[in-house]
Amino acid sequence: MNEFQLIARYFASSPCSNDVLLGIGDDAAVIAVPSGYRLVAAVDTIVEGIHFPHHSDAADIAYRALAVNLSDMAAMGAVPRWFTLSLCIPAIDEAWMEHFASSLQALAGRFDVQLVGGDTVKGPLNISIQILGLVESDKWLTRSGASPGDLIFVSGNPGEAAGGLQLLLTPRGAGSREEQQYSQHLIQRFLRPEPRVALGRFLRLHASAAMDVSDGLLGDLRKLCASSGCGARLQLEQLPASSALQVMFDDQQREQLILSGGDDYELLFTIAPQHEAVVARAMAACDVVCTRIGVMSAGPEVSCFRDSQAVTFADAGYDHFAS
Ligand code: ADP
Ligand code: MG
Repeated sequence: MNEFQLIARYFASSPCSNDVLLGIGDDAAVIAVPSGYRLVAAVDTIVEGIHFPHHSDAADIAYRALAVNLSDMAAMGAVPRWFTLSLCIPAIDEAWMEHFASSLQALAGRFDVQLVGGDTVKGPLNISIQILGLVESDKWLTRSGASPGDLIFVSGNPGEAAGGLQLLLTPRGAGSREEQQYSQHLIQRFLRPEPRVALGRFLRLHASAAMDVSDGLLGDLRKLCASSGCGARLQLEQLPASSALQVMFDDQQREQLILSGGDDYELLFTIAPQHEAVVARAMAACDVVCTRIGVMSAGPEVSCFRDSQAVTFADAGYDHFAS
Protein backbone atom coordinates (compact mmCIF):
# COMPACT_ATOMS: atom_id res chain seq x y z
CA MET A 1 0.00 0.00 0.00
CA ASN A 2 1.32 3.47 -0.83
CA GLU A 3 0.47 6.88 0.59
CA PHE A 4 -2.33 7.55 -1.89
CA GLN A 5 -3.96 4.17 -1.40
CA LEU A 6 -3.74 4.72 2.35
CA ILE A 7 -5.52 8.08 2.10
CA ALA A 8 -8.15 6.60 -0.22
CA ARG A 9 -8.74 3.55 1.99
CA TYR A 10 -8.86 5.16 5.42
CA PHE A 11 -9.70 8.84 5.06
CA ALA A 12 -11.11 9.89 1.70
CA SER A 13 -14.63 8.62 2.35
CA SER A 14 -15.02 10.51 5.63
CA PRO A 15 -18.57 11.82 5.94
CA CYS A 16 -18.99 15.47 5.01
CA SER A 17 -21.92 17.84 5.41
CA ASN A 18 -23.06 20.54 2.96
CA ASP A 19 -20.92 23.27 4.51
CA VAL A 20 -17.79 21.44 3.31
CA LEU A 21 -17.72 22.77 -0.27
CA LEU A 22 -14.52 20.87 -1.07
CA GLY A 23 -13.19 18.08 1.12
CA ILE A 24 -10.43 15.48 0.92
CA GLY A 25 -8.84 15.03 -2.50
CA ASP A 26 -7.86 18.52 -3.58
CA ASP A 27 -4.97 20.71 -2.42
CA ALA A 28 -7.04 22.22 0.37
CA ALA A 29 -10.53 22.13 1.80
CA VAL A 30 -13.07 24.91 1.27
CA ILE A 31 -15.66 25.46 3.99
CA ALA A 32 -18.70 27.72 4.16
CA VAL A 33 -18.70 29.66 7.43
CA PRO A 34 -22.18 30.79 8.53
CA SER A 35 -22.70 34.49 9.14
CA GLY A 36 -22.95 35.56 12.76
CA TYR A 37 -20.13 33.22 13.80
CA ARG A 38 -16.37 33.43 14.23
CA LEU A 39 -13.99 30.71 13.14
CA VAL A 40 -12.00 29.31 16.10
CA ALA A 41 -8.77 27.44 15.26
CA ALA A 42 -6.43 25.32 17.38
CA VAL A 43 -3.78 22.68 16.74
CA ASP A 44 -2.30 20.05 19.02
CA THR A 45 0.41 17.53 18.27
CA ILE A 46 0.95 14.32 20.18
CA VAL A 47 4.25 12.47 20.02
CA GLU A 48 4.94 8.85 20.89
CA GLY A 49 6.95 8.55 24.10
CA ILE A 50 5.98 12.05 25.22
CA HIS A 51 2.20 12.37 25.08
CA PHE A 52 1.46 8.66 25.01
CA PRO A 53 3.61 5.64 25.93
CA HIS A 54 5.44 3.68 23.24
CA HIS A 55 3.35 0.87 21.73
CA SER A 56 0.04 2.41 22.80
CA ASP A 57 -3.05 1.07 21.13
CA ALA A 58 -3.76 2.80 17.80
CA ALA A 59 -7.38 3.38 18.82
CA ASP A 60 -6.28 5.16 22.02
CA ILE A 61 -3.78 7.29 20.09
CA ALA A 62 -6.42 8.41 17.59
CA TYR A 63 -8.86 9.15 20.41
CA ARG A 64 -6.30 11.27 22.26
CA ALA A 65 -5.20 13.19 19.16
CA LEU A 66 -8.75 14.36 18.49
CA ALA A 67 -9.92 14.63 22.12
CA VAL A 68 -7.20 17.11 23.11
CA ASN A 69 -8.27 19.32 20.21
CA LEU A 70 -11.97 19.03 21.08
CA SER A 71 -10.97 20.09 24.58
CA ASP A 72 -9.44 23.31 23.21
CA MET A 73 -12.75 24.10 21.52
CA ALA A 74 -14.54 23.40 24.82
CA ALA A 75 -12.25 25.86 26.59
CA MET A 76 -13.25 28.56 24.09
CA GLY A 77 -16.98 27.87 24.39
CA ALA A 78 -16.91 26.95 20.68
CA VAL A 79 -18.69 24.23 18.71
CA PRO A 80 -16.04 22.02 17.08
CA ARG A 81 -16.89 21.45 13.39
CA TRP A 82 -13.99 20.41 11.14
CA PHE A 83 -10.47 19.08 11.48
CA THR A 84 -7.40 18.21 9.45
CA LEU A 85 -5.02 15.40 10.33
CA SER A 86 -1.27 15.30 9.87
CA LEU A 87 -0.21 11.72 10.32
CA CYS A 88 3.48 10.86 10.66
CA ILE A 89 3.96 7.09 10.82
CA PRO A 90 7.11 4.95 10.66
CA ALA A 91 5.55 2.44 8.23
CA ILE A 92 2.14 1.45 6.89
CA ASP A 93 0.67 -1.23 9.13
CA GLU A 94 -2.84 -2.00 7.90
CA ALA A 95 -4.19 -3.38 11.18
CA TRP A 96 -2.83 -0.31 13.02
CA MET A 97 -4.33 2.03 10.41
CA GLU A 98 -7.69 0.26 10.66
CA HIS A 99 -7.83 0.73 14.44
CA PHE A 100 -6.61 4.28 14.19
CA ALA A 101 -9.07 5.36 11.51
CA SER A 102 -12.13 3.68 13.03
CA SER A 103 -11.46 5.11 16.50
CA LEU A 104 -10.91 8.57 15.01
CA GLN A 105 -14.18 8.38 13.08
CA ALA A 106 -16.06 7.10 16.13
CA LEU A 107 -15.03 10.11 18.24
CA ALA A 108 -15.52 12.48 15.30
CA GLY A 109 -19.04 11.09 14.85
CA ARG A 110 -19.85 11.48 18.53
CA PHE A 111 -18.91 15.17 18.46
CA ASP A 112 -20.17 15.74 14.91
CA VAL A 113 -16.82 16.99 13.56
CA GLN A 114 -15.64 16.25 10.05
CA LEU A 115 -12.25 15.34 8.67
CA VAL A 116 -11.68 17.66 5.70
CA GLY A 117 -8.04 17.04 4.83
CA GLY A 118 -4.60 16.24 6.05
CA ASP A 119 -1.12 15.11 5.27
CA THR A 120 0.53 11.71 5.50
CA VAL A 121 4.28 11.36 5.92
CA LYS A 122 6.82 8.79 7.05
CA GLY A 123 8.78 9.38 10.26
CA PRO A 124 8.65 8.84 14.04
CA LEU A 125 5.05 8.34 15.18
CA ASN A 126 3.34 11.64 15.84
CA ILE A 127 -0.10 12.97 15.09
CA SER A 128 -1.09 16.54 14.67
CA ILE A 129 -4.69 17.63 14.38
CA GLN A 130 -5.86 21.10 13.56
CA ILE A 131 -9.41 21.74 14.62
CA LEU A 132 -11.79 24.43 13.44
CA GLY A 133 -14.91 25.44 15.31
CA LEU A 134 -17.56 28.11 15.44
CA VAL A 135 -18.57 30.51 18.14
CA GLU A 136 -21.28 33.18 18.10
CA SER A 137 -19.66 36.48 17.09
CA ASP A 138 -20.62 38.27 20.30
CA LYS A 139 -18.83 36.17 22.91
CA TRP A 140 -16.29 33.42 23.41
CA LEU A 141 -14.37 32.27 26.47
CA THR A 142 -10.79 33.36 27.15
CA ARG A 143 -8.18 32.93 29.85
CA SER A 144 -8.00 36.66 30.39
CA GLY A 145 -11.41 37.68 31.70
CA ALA A 146 -11.19 36.82 35.41
CA SER A 147 -11.41 39.52 38.10
CA PRO A 148 -10.47 39.50 41.79
CA GLY A 149 -13.32 37.95 43.79
CA ASP A 150 -14.40 35.59 40.98
CA LEU A 151 -14.89 32.01 42.17
CA ILE A 152 -12.65 29.30 40.70
CA PHE A 153 -14.15 25.99 39.61
CA VAL A 154 -12.80 22.85 37.99
CA SER A 155 -14.82 20.11 36.28
CA GLY A 156 -14.44 16.40 36.92
CA ASN A 157 -11.62 14.85 38.92
CA PRO A 158 -8.26 16.39 38.07
CA GLY A 159 -5.36 14.08 38.89
CA GLU A 160 -7.14 10.93 37.78
CA ALA A 161 -5.47 10.89 34.35
CA ALA A 162 -1.99 11.29 35.83
CA GLY A 163 -2.79 8.58 38.39
CA GLY A 164 -3.90 6.33 35.54
CA LEU A 165 -0.69 6.99 33.62
CA GLN A 166 1.35 6.01 36.71
CA LEU A 167 -0.58 2.77 37.02
CA LEU A 168 -0.17 2.11 33.30
CA LEU A 169 3.59 2.64 33.39
CA THR A 170 4.16 0.90 36.75
CA PRO A 171 1.51 -1.79 37.09
CA ARG A 172 0.87 -3.03 40.63
CA GLY A 173 0.09 -6.52 41.86
CA ALA A 174 -3.47 -7.77 41.36
CA GLY A 175 -4.93 -6.14 44.53
CA SER A 176 -8.54 -6.35 45.70
CA ARG A 177 -11.46 -6.31 43.31
CA GLU A 178 -12.17 -2.71 44.30
CA GLU A 179 -8.55 -1.74 43.58
CA GLN A 180 -8.68 -3.43 40.19
CA GLN A 181 -11.83 -1.53 39.28
CA TYR A 182 -10.44 1.81 40.43
CA SER A 183 -7.18 1.12 38.66
CA GLN A 184 -9.05 0.43 35.41
CA HIS A 185 -11.11 3.58 35.92
CA LEU A 186 -7.97 5.73 36.34
CA ILE A 187 -6.24 4.21 33.31
CA GLN A 188 -9.35 4.92 31.24
CA ARG A 189 -9.29 8.52 32.43
CA PHE A 190 -5.79 8.80 30.98
CA LEU A 191 -6.51 6.91 27.76
CA ARG A 192 -9.91 8.41 27.03
CA PRO A 193 -10.25 11.94 28.43
CA GLU A 194 -13.75 13.32 27.93
CA PRO A 195 -13.74 16.67 26.09
CA ARG A 196 -16.05 19.02 28.03
CA VAL A 197 -17.59 20.58 24.93
CA ALA A 198 -21.15 20.81 26.30
CA LEU A 199 -19.87 22.42 29.51
CA GLY A 200 -17.85 24.97 27.52
CA ARG A 201 -20.95 25.83 25.50
CA PHE A 202 -23.00 26.23 28.67
CA LEU A 203 -20.38 28.45 30.31
CA ARG A 204 -19.85 30.65 27.25
CA LEU A 205 -22.15 33.42 28.49
CA HIS A 206 -21.54 32.96 32.21
CA ALA A 207 -17.88 32.27 32.99
CA SER A 208 -15.49 35.21 33.20
CA ALA A 209 -12.52 33.06 32.12
CA ALA A 210 -11.85 29.46 31.15
CA MET A 211 -9.11 27.12 29.98
CA ASP A 212 -8.66 23.39 29.73
CA VAL A 213 -6.31 21.69 32.18
CA SER A 214 -3.67 19.80 30.24
CA ASP A 215 -0.41 20.50 32.07
CA GLY A 216 -1.53 20.29 35.71
CA LEU A 217 -4.14 22.24 37.67
CA LEU A 218 -1.84 24.55 39.61
CA GLY A 219 0.42 25.41 36.67
CA ASP A 220 -2.57 25.99 34.42
CA LEU A 221 -4.26 28.16 37.06
CA ARG A 222 -1.08 30.25 37.11
CA LYS A 223 -1.43 30.71 33.34
CA LEU A 224 -5.05 31.80 33.69
CA CYS A 225 -4.06 34.22 36.47
CA ALA A 226 -1.21 35.67 34.39
CA SER A 227 -3.59 36.20 31.42
CA SER A 228 -6.20 37.83 33.65
CA GLY A 229 -3.70 39.96 35.58
CA CYS A 230 -4.90 38.48 38.88
CA GLY A 231 -3.75 36.14 41.61
CA ALA A 232 -5.62 33.28 43.22
CA ARG A 233 -6.19 31.61 46.59
CA LEU A 234 -6.60 27.89 46.19
CA GLN A 235 -8.28 25.96 49.05
CA LEU A 236 -6.61 22.56 49.10
CA GLU A 237 -9.25 21.00 51.37
CA GLN A 238 -11.86 21.79 48.70
CA LEU A 239 -10.09 19.91 45.89
CA PRO A 240 -12.43 17.28 44.39
CA ALA A 241 -12.15 13.99 46.25
CA SER A 242 -11.94 11.17 43.73
CA SER A 243 -12.68 7.79 45.36
CA ALA A 244 -10.36 6.11 42.87
CA LEU A 245 -7.45 8.37 43.80
CA GLN A 246 -8.23 7.93 47.50
CA VAL A 247 -8.11 4.16 47.26
CA MET A 248 -5.08 3.90 44.97
CA PHE A 249 -2.80 6.64 46.37
CA ASP A 250 -1.91 8.06 49.76
CA ASP A 251 -2.98 11.61 50.69
CA GLN A 252 0.27 13.24 49.68
CA GLN A 253 0.48 11.47 46.31
CA ARG A 254 -3.16 12.27 45.67
CA GLU A 255 -2.70 15.97 46.30
CA GLN A 256 0.40 15.97 44.11
CA LEU A 257 -1.52 14.27 41.30
CA ILE A 258 -4.46 16.68 41.58
CA LEU A 259 -2.30 19.80 41.63
CA SER A 260 0.39 18.93 39.12
CA GLY A 261 -0.66 15.82 37.21
CA GLY A 262 -1.39 16.54 33.55
CA ASP A 263 -3.63 15.13 30.82
CA ASP A 264 -6.97 15.73 32.54
CA TYR A 265 -8.58 17.91 29.87
CA GLU A 266 -11.03 19.19 32.45
CA LEU A 267 -12.23 22.79 32.36
CA LEU A 268 -10.89 25.33 34.83
CA PHE A 269 -13.15 28.37 34.95
CA THR A 270 -14.01 31.44 36.95
CA ILE A 271 -17.44 32.87 37.70
CA ALA A 272 -18.44 36.14 39.33
CA PRO A 273 -19.96 35.32 42.77
CA GLN A 274 -23.41 36.62 41.76
CA HIS A 275 -23.54 34.03 38.96
CA GLU A 276 -22.49 31.06 41.11
CA ALA A 277 -25.93 29.43 40.79
CA VAL A 278 -25.22 28.93 37.07
CA VAL A 279 -22.71 26.21 37.98
CA ALA A 280 -25.37 23.92 39.48
CA ARG A 281 -27.41 24.31 36.29
CA ALA A 282 -24.34 23.59 34.16
CA MET A 283 -23.62 20.44 36.20
CA ALA A 284 -27.16 19.16 35.70
CA ALA A 285 -27.32 20.09 32.01
CA CYS A 286 -23.89 18.68 31.14
CA ASP A 287 -23.80 15.75 33.54
CA VAL A 288 -20.44 16.66 35.02
CA VAL A 289 -19.45 17.59 38.55
CA CYS A 290 -17.80 20.98 38.99
CA THR A 291 -16.07 21.84 42.26
CA ARG A 292 -15.34 25.26 43.70
CA ILE A 293 -11.65 25.26 44.60
CA GLY A 294 -10.77 28.85 45.37
CA VAL A 295 -11.14 32.52 44.60
CA MET A 296 -9.33 34.99 42.36
CA SER A 297 -7.40 37.70 44.19
CA ALA A 298 -5.83 41.04 43.35
CA GLY A 299 -2.18 40.15 43.85
CA PRO A 300 -0.14 38.29 41.25
CA GLU A 301 0.53 35.34 43.60
CA VAL A 302 -1.24 32.03 43.32
CA SER A 303 -1.25 30.79 46.90
CA CYS A 304 -2.48 27.56 48.42
CA PHE A 305 -4.30 27.30 51.74
CA ARG A 306 -5.29 24.33 53.83
CA ASP A 307 -8.02 25.21 56.35
CA SER A 308 -6.87 28.87 56.18
CA GLN A 309 -3.19 27.99 56.76
CA ALA A 310 -0.89 29.02 53.89
CA VAL A 311 1.09 26.12 52.41
CA THR A 312 3.81 26.18 49.77
CA PHE A 313 3.60 24.03 46.74
CA ALA A 314 6.37 24.68 44.24
CA ASP A 315 5.49 22.54 41.24
CA ALA A 316 4.67 24.69 38.21
CA GLY A 317 3.20 21.99 35.99
CA TYR A 318 4.48 20.31 32.87
CA ASP A 319 6.85 22.22 30.59
CA HIS A 320 8.26 20.49 27.49
CA PHE A 321 11.40 22.61 27.55
CA ALA A 322 12.07 22.70 31.30
CA SER A 323 15.60 21.42 32.01
P1 ADP B 1 -0.57 17.50 -1.48
O1 ADP B 1 0.10 16.90 -2.66
O2 ADP B 1 -1.32 18.76 -1.76
O3 ADP B 1 0.28 17.57 -0.27
P2 ADP B 1 -1.57 15.04 -0.60
O4 ADP B 1 -1.21 14.15 -1.71
O5 ADP B 1 -0.71 15.05 0.60
O6 ADP B 1 -1.76 16.49 -1.15
O7 ADP B 1 -3.04 14.73 -0.16
C1 ADP B 1 -4.06 14.48 -1.07
C2 ADP B 1 -5.39 14.75 -0.41
O8 ADP B 1 -5.56 13.85 0.67
C3 ADP B 1 -5.51 16.16 0.16
O9 ADP B 1 -6.83 16.59 -0.04
C4 ADP B 1 -5.25 15.97 1.61
O10 ADP B 1 -5.95 16.91 2.40
C5 ADP B 1 -5.76 14.55 1.87
N1 ADP B 1 -5.01 13.86 2.93
C6 ADP B 1 -3.72 13.49 2.95
N2 ADP B 1 -3.41 12.85 4.09
C7 ADP B 1 -4.54 12.83 4.82
C8 ADP B 1 -4.87 12.34 6.11
N3 ADP B 1 -3.98 11.75 6.90
N4 ADP B 1 -6.14 12.51 6.54
C9 ADP B 1 -7.05 13.13 5.77
N5 ADP B 1 -6.81 13.61 4.56
C10 ADP B 1 -5.57 13.47 4.08
MG1 MG C 1 -1.00 20.16 -2.71
